[in-house]
Amino acid sequence: MGERKHEHVRVAVIGSGFGGLGAAVRLRRQGITDFVVLERADSVGGTWRDNTYPGCACDVPSHLYSFSFAPNAEWPRNFSGQPHIRSYLEHVTDTFGLRPHLRFQSEVQSMRWSNEELWWEIETASGPLTADVVVSATGPLSDPKIPAVPGLDTFPGKVFHSAQWDHDYDLTGKRVAMIGTGASAIQIVPAIQPDVEQLTLFQRTPAWVLPRADRKISAAEKWLHAKVPATRAARRGLLWGLRELQVSAFTKRPNELGMIEFLGRNHMKRAVKDPQLRAKLTPDYRIGCKRILLSNAYYPALAEPNVDVVAAGLKEVRGNTLIGSDGSETEVDAVVFGTGFHVTDMPIAHRVTGAHGMTLAEEWKDGMESLRGASAAHFPNFLTIIGPNTGLGNSSMILMIEAQLNYLCDYMRQLDVLGDRIALSARPAAVQQWTRTIQRRMQRTVWNTGGCDSWYLDANGRNTTAWPGTTAEFKKVTRQVDLAEYEVLRRPAAAPSTEPTAGAAGTGVDDSTEVAA
Ligand code: NAP
Repeated sequence: MGERKHEHVRVAVIGSGFGGLGAAVRLRRQGITDFVVLERADSVGGTWRDNTYPGCACDVPSHLYSFSFAPNAEWPRNFSGQPHIRSYLEHVTDTFGLRPHLRFQSEVQSMRWSNEELWWEIETASGPLTADVVVSATGPLSDPKIPAVPGLDTFPGKVFHSAQWDHDYDLTGKRVAMIGTGASAIQIVPAIQPDVEQLTLFQRTPAWVLPRADRKISAAEKWLHAKVPATRAARRGLLWGLRELQVSAFTKRPNELGMIEFLGRNHMKRAVKDPQLRAKLTPDYRIGCKRILLSNAYYPALAEPNVDVVAAGLKEVRGNTLIGSDGSETEVDAVVFGTGFHVTDMPIAHRVTGAHGMTLAEEWKDGMESLRGASAAHFPNFLTIIGPNTGLGNSSMILMIEAQLNYLCDYMRQLDVLGDRIALSARPAAVQQWTRTIQRRMQRTVWNTGGCDSWYLDANGRNTTAWPGTTAEFKKVTRQVDLAEYEVLRRPAAAPSTEPTAGAAGTGVDDSTEVAA
């Protein structure tokens, strides 16, 4: 950073999806206004801004998939679509006065912890700054992954990823290949099937798909939710409670999931009459091992005459021809990759250098691990939102995000109590102890025992993504920072070598707003 004057803020938040915006709201409510939200794009929304593919919606009910502090009586459906979720996040941004804090086109290029100054030196696409605390809310589903398929560069047609949908390219009347059968692909298939000439689905692993109890939320319900907030809270509470009751089957007693498998098989039988197709679509692993998918339209679409299911992965591309790992050959005009994201190998981890001079990617070379999903060893005052082992298989990630925000708020309180020129660094022994406990519990879960491979597992086969408990338990263990788990770092009283200027967003804007979004 040299001798130049630079901007300094108390907190830099990276990302403006649910995690980053939630952090911004909670910081302001705690009276902290000296912070910026660094965003690589030019609007808020994170994954709900980027994913605009046809049929994109959330498969967690909206009244649960929203902030507890920003309830919305106006959700149009049980499972609202991407445009509504995105506009909800825009609304939250306005309602809570977050705009002055946003820095668009400010992708973090590198970050380094200064052991002398006890702050983070951050280079962004819009210039450098320093921050006492960094909140990394980049999300696990932000960097699209396209597999390295030999010959893909020889394909003369159109290629894109589900999270980078090209709306200028019209699929009508085209021969299209859909690669993958994850949550994205199964929403795309029924949305494009009526328009394309031929749809070929490359299914490496069949998914368990259950009915989706979706419906419009009636005007009467919306009115009631707006006028009597307790009804909205009760609805949310019911949605939450039902999911909490399911957790032990996933985490402790996977054998109890047989009943749900029966429902899944029946769901398929009703829509797919061809026994050969049914055989292709029947999973050979325990339900829940991979994310359970919800759709009423996926199986009926696969039974249509213009759809072909190749029960194999995409192995190679030769010109217009896609070669499956079963040797099949299919000529297509366009390829859509629904092949997921860099979850356990996040690109941001290569850009963050900790107190020991190593990057987060190097620190995590044997697997991601952080104390209470938030603090990695050797990365002082660096907190991740949706960090390692905070993912859920059956409920709303917003509950986990809010628990992590409680932890962030207590972390900031502890820093204030400890005084100026202080940082907290997670003790390696505490991180290891936390990770050992999680991994021990993980051994009984359906994700580890269900007989499948999934993005929950990293390259070493370790589950570093999922939380093996209830959301209530996670909320409890993240309520407060236990200082015994941290080393307190103190900066010598000498004057800093650079002269930071106050953060532009430190506008002292009062945050007393809480309205339905
Ligand atoms: P994903 O779950 O990671 O699925 C990727 C798919 O690509 C898998 O079916 C995988 O097969 C397949 N694949 C990878 N390489 C392949 C190849 N060479 N040939 C054929 N298939 C290949 O990705 P996603 O569907 O984008 O979903 C990611 C996560 O986003 C979800 O789990 C969910 O958390 C979230 N999401 C949620 C919603 C929702 O709320 N409705 C919607 C979309 C996404 P294998 O199974 O064999 O590995």
